[in-house]
Amino acid sequence: MRRLSVAIDGPAGAGKSTVARQVARQLGFTYVDTGAMYRAITWKALQNGSDLTDERKMTQLVRDTHIQLKTDKKEVLVWVDGQPVSEEIRTPEVTSHVSAVAGLAGVRTELLEKQRELALNGGVVMDGRDIGTRVLPEAGVKVFLTASIDERAHRRYNEWLRKGYSVDLEQLKQEIRQRDEKDKNRKHSPLIPAEDAVHLDTTGLTITEVVQAILDLCRTKVGGGE
Ligand code: C5P
Repeated sequence: MRRLSVAIDGPAGAGKSTVARQVARQLGFTYVDTGAMYRAITWKALQNGSDLTDERKMTQLVRDTHIQLKTDKKEVLVWVDGQPVSEEIRTPEVTSHVSAVAGLAGVRTELLEKQRELALNGGVVMDGRDIGTRVLPEAGVKVFLTASIDERAHRRYNEWLRKGYSVDLEQLKQEIRQRDEKDKNRKHSPLIPAEDAVHLDTTGLTITEVVQAILDLCRTKVGGGE
C-alpha cells in the first residue's frame, strides 16, 4: 500500500487509540498518539510545579522537552527527556489538567511542528482532536470516531478497573463530558470533524469491526488510484 497518512479524530473514549494502533500495525505504518504528547507536557509541567496558565512559560517548556513515542503490540510507550512516563501521563491528575494545557495556542504550535515532522514521509496513522483539520489537512484518509457517552464512559471505566484504580462511573461520565466541552469550545484547533472526514459511530461495534472499516477506507483510497 502506498505511503498514505491516516487521520483519526474524535472525543475522549471513542476508541481512537486502540483502533489507530491496530490499523497502523496491519498497514505496517507508524502510529502517532498526539494525545500522549499533550499529556507528556502536562505531566512535566505538573512535576515542575509550573503555572499551567502561563502560556509563554508553557510554550518554552514544550521547546525544552524531548518527547519520544514508541508503540509496541499492546501500548504506546512514552519518554519525557529520557524518563519513561507511559503510566504517569494517564493518571486522573494529568487527565484532568490536559485540556487546559491543550488550549494554549503556543503549546499547540510547538507540538504541531513535531507532529508534522513525524508524518513527513507518510506511512502514519495519527490520532487526536485536530489531525484532519489542522495537523494533516492533506491526509488521504480522515475518520471521525464517535460513540455514545454511556459507551465511552463504560470503556474508560473498564480500562481504569483493569489498571487497579477504583472509579465512579457517573463521575467518569461527568469528566468525559467536561473534557469534550473544553476540547470542542476552545479557540485554537477545537475538536470538530474535518469536512471531508468519514464519520464512524463505534457504539455497539467491536474493535475488529472498526479497524476493518478503516482498513477498507484505506484500500478504497489506494485502489482508487489517488
Ligand atoms: O487522546 P487523549 O485523551 O489522550 O488526549 C488528551 C487530551 O489532549 C485531549 O482531551 C485534548 O485536550 C488534547 N489533545 C488535543 N489535540 C490532539 C490530541 C489531544 O488537544 N490532537
